[in-house]
Amino acid sequence: MKRVLSGIQPTGEIHIGNWLGAIVNYVELGRKLGREALYCIVDYHAMTNPLAYEKELLAQRTFEAALVNIAAGLDPEKVTLFVQSHVPEHTELSWVFTNITPVGDLQRMTQYKDKAAKLESVGAGLLMYPVLQAADILIYKADTVPVGEDQIQHLELSREIARRFNTLFGETFPEPTAYLNPDAPRVPGIDGKAKMSKSTGNTIGLLEDPQSVWEKIRLLPDDPARIRLADPGDPERSVVFKFLPYFAPKEMVEVLKEEHRRAGIGTLAIKQILFDQYMKATRPIRERAEWLRQNPEYVLDGLEDGARRARQIAQATMQEVREKIGLLRLE
Ligand code: ATP
Ligand code: MG
Repeated sequence: MKRVLSGIQPTGEIHIGNWLGAIVNYVELGRKLGREALYCIVDYHAMTNPLAYEKELLAQRTFEAALVNIAAGLDPEKVTLFVQSHVPEHTELSWVFTNITPVGDLQRMTQYKDKAAKLESVGAGLLMYPVLQAADILIYKADTVPVGEDQIQHLELSREIARRFNTLFGETFPEPTAYLNPDAPRVPGIDGKAKMSKSTGNTIGLLEDPQSVWEKIRLLPDDPARIRLADPGDPERSVVFKFLPYFAPKEMVEVLKEEHRRAGIGTLAIKQILFDQYMKATRPIRERAEWLRQNPEYVLDGLEDGARRARQIAQATMQEVREKIGLLRLE
């Protein structure tokens, strides 16, 4: 592992799926690699879904995404944390990549199909999303990308783009690989089914108001076969047991499963335990977020420094790419 890159969209409140699936690995890999770990708030990506993009909210959401990442443990003095639009070479490289990416490959992307199905009119940006993502990664020649399982297909496309570019223009880019959290590759939404997603609204926020989190946990669907309170429950069919292992120690989960099977503990009591464990896990992040809200310049200075550092690498790659693809140079 030489260089790490990952991105998060400022499309709404960062949720526990983003945290467990991606951000915990940002923190871990950041500690290992220091400045060679680059984390990007991908604001141009946030424009691709008209259901999530709001001009008035974009800047605030971008700031908030940076703040949450820092609160969750990323140290902007040690890793490179920056905003995608502050490094225009991403979009420049993405244009080059659009020319070596078959439209058919983009139309096969599951996320494209899911998001496009909800729209009356689909912008070309939504289709091009994985091409811009490939540019985000490859402009830094990153070889490792911490993401959730939902991004595996996009990453495969990034590898194909790198391979095709190397074949056509000479060895330039590594083929990046995904780095998953084996304990939380795909956190389900609060319905227990679809992936938890900012744009779907089936989320539990990482910093959400505790009262509102409790309301969501309280309403998590139960094992449908369990009718009366005294009935034994099947932990495998209960959504609360899907979430519990993310926050509670393994032994505690096993004991509660056993109790629940014997009808020794009801769903509401388990939900209370889940809520307590969630609060315990997120409290230090909430406290740091509170401090950062009082000191916004810490976040903004971090982003400025991050963009400066990212731009240095991105400009060098883009220079190399311009030469390789045969553009006229003036000096
Ligand atoms: P959107 O609905 O706008 O696409 P999102 O919730 O999917 O938002 P992204 O910003 O697209 O979040 O993704 C940020 C990172 O979080 C990615 O690495 C993605 O793989 C990861 N991620 C998103 N949702 C989940 C989830 N439910 N479980 C695990 N990882 C996730
Ligand atoms: Mg997403």
